[in-house]
Amino acid sequence: MKPAAFDYAVPRTVAEAVEALGDTGRKTQVLAGGQSLILEMHLQRIRPELVVDINRIAGLDQLGVDGNTLRVGALVRHGVFESAQAVPGPLGALFARAVVNIAHPPIRSRGTMAGSFAWAHPASEWCAIGTALDADIELHDQAGRRTVAAGDYFHGPYRTARRPQELITAVRFPLLGDDVGVGFIEHRRTHFCFAQVAVAAALTVRDGVISEARIGLVNCADRPLRAHAAEQALIGAEAGTPVDGYRLPDGHPFARAGRIAATQDAAPVAEPYADVEYKRQAIAVLVKRTLCQAADDQRSRGAQHSDAQHSGAQRKGDHR
Ligand SMILES: Cc1cc2nc3c(=O)[nH]c(=O)nc-3n(C[C@H](O)[C@H](O)[C@H](O)COP(=O)(O)OP(=O)(O)OC[C@H]3O[C@@H](n4cnc5c(N)ncnc54)[C@H](O)[C@@H]3O)c2cc1C
Repeated sequence: MKPAAFDYAVPRTVAEAVEALGDTGRKTQVLAGGQSLILEMHLQRIRPELVVDINRIAGLDQLGVDGNTLRVGALVRHGVFESAQAVPGPLGALFARAVVNIAHPPIRSRGTMAGSFAWAHPASEWCAIGTALDADIELHDQAGRRTVAAGDYFHGPYRTARRPQELITAVRFPLLGDDVGVGFIEHRRTHFCFAQVAVAAALTVRDGVISEARIGLVNCADRPLRAHAAEQALIGAEAGTPVDGYRLPDGHPFARAGRIAATQDAAPVAEPYADVEYKRQAIAVLVKRTLCQAADDQRSRGAQHSDAQHSGAQRKGDHR
């Protein structure tokens, strides 16, 4: 099928874009990477009267750090995050682990992170990570700017707090400290399918004990979720020595957190190849394994940190 006829606007500034989106007499859509919109228009499931192409707005492709915050402009493409160095510290490592699960390279070279927040597919990796890490979504309309916390932003499949006349200009994430270990594991039917279930984890470990846990659940409800009950159960638990996520005893804190996430936090929705019971089992297993991965990551990060301190001290000694 071909898209229904539409008008096409190519603003050069955010002000021009929000003026076009403010045209409430017409059904409008923003064109960012086009990796969801164009397909939906071809299938005529979406029939905009006006498409506002934001790709020529200077500055929207900027990725920058301001203090302790990463700001991801609306035109930063998924593929940018394939390098863990694109973003400082453990957040860069988490993004790099997650992004390779999004479709395939051509889609990652065009699709945008902000577009994923606008589209709000329950299986979006970015949206669950944003929810777990307390990201903020920056929205502009003709009246000005507002910011919505990811925890309040998602209302259901493809439904968000964004008003039709608002443009997402950026998504902002708090950076993660060096004492944080990260993990991301996804389960899907074939490489190019969306996730059946995926889990993101960030563990803060001080003196071998978990002081903060953040767990994001992908496609475990009608919207991205943060597994609050499972996180609470981990506080004060020992991160322990390296464990094999495939052979953890049932009583291990990570195995317990997996069961809590599956039964108390998640509200899975059945889909053709995964019923609710299957998804709950997958969530329990993936949470457990992702926590093992995050704990391993934290240990190796800690070892690198002390190696760097040690060689720094040696170099100082050499000068004496
Ligand atoms: C085969 C295939 C597999 C895929 N697999 C995955 C996957 O595994 N995980 C995943 O997360 N995604 C997946 N996607 C979707 C992909 O990540 C898209 O890039 C993303 O969902 C939308 O980003 P976009 O920039 O392409 O947005 P577009 O397609 O341009 O727009 C999508 C929607 O968001 C709105 N929008 C976009 N940007 C803005 C903005 N700045 N402000 C306001 N509204 C905006 C548009 O109006 C439109 O309604 C897949 C897509 C395909 C085709």
